[in-house]
Amino acid sequence: MRQRLSSEPDRYRGRRRVPTPPRSRYAAVVTSAFVGAGVVALGAASQLPDAKAVSPTVLQNLEEASVAQDALADRSADDDRASRSEDRGVSTKVSEEEAAEQAWLLPLGDYEFTSAYGVRFGKLHAGIDLAAPEGTPYKAVHAGTVTSAGYAGGYGYAVTVKHDDGTEMIYAHSRRLFVKAGDKVKAGQVLGQVGNTGYSYGTHLHLEVHVNGAPTDPIVFLRNHGVDIKLKIESVLGTLAAS
Ligand SMILES: [Zn+2]
Repeated sequence: MRQRLSSEPDRYRGRRRVPTPPRSRYAAVVTSAFVGAGVVALGAASQLPDAKAVSPTVLQNLEEASVAQDALADRSADDDRASRSEDRGVSTKVSEEEAAEQAWLLPLGDYEFTSAYGVRFGKLHAGIDLAAPEGTPYKAVHAGTVTSAGYAGGYGYAVTVKHDDGTEMIYAHSRRLFVKAGDKVKAGQVLGQVGNTGYSYGTHLHLEVHVNGAPTDPIVFLRNHGVDIKLKIESVLGTLAAS
């Protein structure tokens, strides 16, 4: 599903002269990630005589956070992240590694939101459920360190990633895991495959967030970081959505 937040026209299209892009870290990070999202308009940048002619337009568009988020919501071209560096047509000063440190992303390209956080059958359902076909790769929502990866009772095969701010994200009911405890992971890195292991009825990813060791509603937590699970919108930077 693709969400369009704004019908804002591209008011900069056709302008012959555009301002020089600010050389700020913010702009560079966003530009890099924007390219990575496989945006069609930017895909042509490498074929232009002067790639700089494209960059300012993109940067202007990024002032409309909704435009950027709309593009990022389109995950169709995002799965092949490995080709990102070859596709980059705009030079940046910030590395992909740095950009990846700050990104908050959806864990799955597509899914059905099937169960909310809250009391269910008289018991706290401490996370959210996202249904997807068996074997679908799921990705780290945010960069961090894997603190556990393996079979964990009702969670089945599960991965816990601790972020730099101390919050923890648990990805449960996996069919397979691709990381181990101690691994450093980036946002968007594949952690495992969606499955139906542990206390699970139906193939899905159970996503749980712990703040100060206690579960909290992932919908609210992620929204505060620019990711909307229900609308399937993600943010390059948490600050983008907060502005
Ligand atoms: Zn669940």
